[in-house]
Amino acid sequence: MDAEQLRQYLEFYQDLGIKTLYRQAAPAIATAATAAIPMELPPLAPTGDTILKIVEDIGDCQRCRLSKGRNKIVFGVGNPESPLVFVGEGPGADEDAQGIPFVGRAGQLLTQMIEGTAKKEGIEILRKDIYICNVVKCRPPENRNPEPDEMEICGQFLHRQLSVIRPKVICALGGVAARALTGHKEGVTKMRGKWFKWQEIPVMVTYHPSYLLRPYNQEAKREAWEDLKKVLHYVYD
Ligand code: SF4
Repeated sequence: MDAEQLRQYLEFYQDLGIKTLYRQAAPAIATAATAAIPMELPPLAPTGDTILKIVEDIGDCQRCRLSKGRNKIVFGVGNPESPLVFVGEGPGADEDAQGIPFVGRAGQLLTQMIEGTAKKEGIEILRKDIYICNVVKCRPPENRNPEPDEMEICGQFLHRQLSVIRPKVICALGGVAARALTGHKEGVTKMRGKWFKWQEIPVMVTYHPSYLLRPYNQEAKREAWEDLKKVLHYVYD
């Protein structure tokens, strides 16, 4: 890689909000001077990027350790021309088995929330009309949170998805997605219901539906419904 290519890579990652690059394999003759140079970088976002190109670039991705335990890469689902995109943190067991985001119990709740709220508010949309994806595309073991390096490596695909779709609003589901998209460090209870920005696109933060499944979280459920109402009216009014 020459200096010009390296500059392009670094500018690209800077635009994506990525601040650290991880080398996948150390060179056999690494020295203190070469140890910080990335050896294996994911591709730059191609000109005229499309969802299909991103899927092709992911391929049978082994770029981070989450590839080891996954069954299926969970890329994203829905209408790639949607003005609204929901972003969760990562696939769970059902999603990993089917290769589709938000299909387990939390996913069913998300569907109910989207369709139920839209109907009540007189907005004619169904889940299939919007786009849903996650920060990481492979299931973290034991449903743990994705690690920062996994989010940064896989985050290039999320950033490309969002850059291609350019929705009117992004809704971040849960603290992990909220922090990944906004760069803020607070917990979800502090961030929810507020507008942030990802590359000039408004981002609403709300609870992850799996948190709302817990029976003692009725108040959070009500709050999430309020957040969703704000999002739907902002996008569709
Ligand atoms: S989580 Fe993302 S970067 Fe890691 S292996 Fe899966 S697709 Fe690749």
